[in-house]
Amino acid sequence: MSKPSLKITFLGTGTSSGVPMIGCHCEVCTSTDTRDKRLRSSILVQSKTTSLVVDTTPDFRYQMLREKVDKLDAVIFTHPHKDHIAGLDDIRAYNFFSDKPMEVYANELTANGLKHEFFYIFSEHRYPGIPRINLNIINGSPFFVGDIRVEPVQVYHLRMPVLGFRFNDFTYITDANRIDEEEMKKISSSEIIALNALRKEPHISHYNLSQAIDLVKRLSIPVSYFTHISHQLGKHHTIESELPVGRQLAWDGLTLHV
Ligand SMILES: [Zn+2]
Ligand SMILES: [Zn+2]
Repeated sequence: MSKPSLKITFLGTGTSSGVPMIGCHCEVCTSTDTRDKRLRSSILVQSKTTSLVVDTTPDFRYQMLREKVDKLDAVIFTHPHKDHIAGLDDIRAYNFFSDKPMEVYANELTANGLKHEFFYIFSEHRYPGIPRINLNIINGSPFFVGDIRVEPVQVYHLRMPVLGFRFNDFTYITDANRIDEEEMKKISSSEIIALNALRKEPHISHYNLSQAIDLVKRLSIPVSYFTHISHQLGKHHTIESELPVGRQLAWDGLTLHV
């Protein structure tokens, strides 16, 4: 079977607080450039027949409305931090129109996080109208959602294991600051990578901009888009002009075909 071509849409490219950040009047948060408006980080992956999102952010409802996603087949989670799971309740609309549970894919750690944060979804006596999900555990092996092949990549967010995902020749990695050599092999032949780059200063659990640039160079991936960006990084326009060839900042609404 030949690989279907995929459309990737960046639903959000901001760090956990989003950009602008509530109450902040810095030059980034007050910028009028639309590329300085960053919802929480997530992507939409679509073939002709199938649509999935990676993570359901606190902005999930608006992201689905903005991109006019009328049909969604699955949610794939990277890790259980709130900025990546908070929007899960809003899959109810898809339950309602499809009349079936949403397929959800997560590793064991995230599955436990979901059971804790959304306990009512998993309760035995279910209140009518709450989300319906079918939870699939990711064990590290590649899997299919419809005709979309999903290859998990194990990365680390300080000590927390986080999943990145490869779709065709595109790899999406958010919330990481370490990748083991074995896992790098799964990524290194990608044509395009989206990688988290929080800010210029070092951070305990995120790659900063120079670490992200060094990593994509080491992996010899020709094109990279940095995401999960803080207002502390600087204005999109300014930072773009400082980046090496092939390295760019992602922005909300950016689409790629892979
Ligand atoms: Zn995050
Ligand atoms: Zn700010």
